Amino acid sequence: MTRRAVALVAAGVLALAGCSGGDDGAGPAEPSSGAPDRTAATSAPATPERTGPTRPTEPTEPAEPTDPANPTRSPDPAEPADIEHVVAISVDGLTPDVLDVLGPDEVPALRRLLREGAGTLNARTELESTQTLPNHVGMVTGRPVDPAAGGHGVDWNDDRLRGTVQVAAGGPVASLFSVVDEAGGSSAVFTGKVKLGIFALSWPDAVDRSVVEPDTERLARLATRDLARRQPTVTFVHLAGPDEAGHAAGWLSPAYLDAVREADRVIGRLLRVVGDVPALRDRTAVVLTADHGGSGSRHRDPADPVNYTIPFVVAGPGVPAGDLYELSPGLADPGRGRPGYDAARPPVRSCDLADVALTLLRLPPVPDAGCDAAALMPLTTG
Ligand SMILES: [Zn+2]
Repeated sequence: MTRRAVALVAAGVLALAGCSGGDDGAGPAEPSSGAPDRTAATSAPATPERTGPTRPTEPTEPAEPTDPANPTRSPDPAEPADIEHVVAISVDGLTPDVLDVLGPDEVPALRRLLREGAGTLNARTELESTQTLPNHVGMVTGRPVDPAAGGHGVDWNDDRLRGTVQVAAGGPVASLFSVVDEAGGSSAVFTGKVKLGIFALSWPDAVDRSVVEPDTERLARLATRDLARRQPTVTFVHLAGPDEAGHAAGWLSPAYLDAVREADRVIGRLLRVVGDVPALRDRTAVVLTADHGGSGSRHRDPADPVNYTIPFVVAGPGVPAGDLYELSPGLADPGRGRPGYDAARPPVRSCDLADVALTLLRLPPVPDAGCDAAALMPLTTG
């Protein structure tokens, strides 16, 4: 990423400082869409791109491909092609309880991932936090939160620019993006919240494109177009809608259910691109998780099961289908419990996303990652 691109991201973050609080339900509402300066889209090495309502026309999204029967799986499971791309999806505030409320036809993409991949509805957040930013930084660094225990140190959750992950941790911190970059790959981040601009700020050379776009439809259009045209090694897509609806109207409220349906439609669009673009088909895995659940209009307490219970699913060529814990003897279903990071048989956590993605790509794990369940999961075919 160019220095100018970094500055643009920083400007996007700073433009919102003071007008947005945390997403813990105690502060002001999170950003709503509309203001042109809300979108900070950058592109490197080309001239930084800026999207927003001031832009008269949107480049057309590639034609939505038809829905193949099995877009994330190799036609011959015995000889899967190497995985060259990973689409990592975080659905902000997605509680597994929603799948008890919404029928299969209402969330077909989520259901398909769970059916075709290795998944669980009983994964865990970071032990220390059920807030958005600490968990997302964990997803890409593979680290716990507490810096005294080797964590990433990002324990805040508002949109104010407080520095990089490295500043928070008090030293160098590698990430999914930096490992991919060192291997010659590329990464793109599409997020609905300004706070996740910390990815591009912290790894400016490794995050090749960082788009902050609060409008889910616009975000979906940009992400699917980029995935189809540029085919990054890693595409990280953050869908903010369910969390925002949860804070505004309550978890599992009609508005929340609508937001989950909308998120599912975006996931379906991403899956269709994967199945339709020849360079992606049979070479792409999808990893989906969440940063926290929630109840009422909050998700602050990290000791509350409704907050720390999240889904985690990985699907792609060579990845077996089934219950993730049954497929992974080294892991243990935590039941209703809240195991520590030193558990002999850990649960899968949000912070395992980075090493899961890297394992799928046959790249080394993130250095100093403390979340190590990926090594215990059936992600490689040898
Ligand atoms: Zn929230």
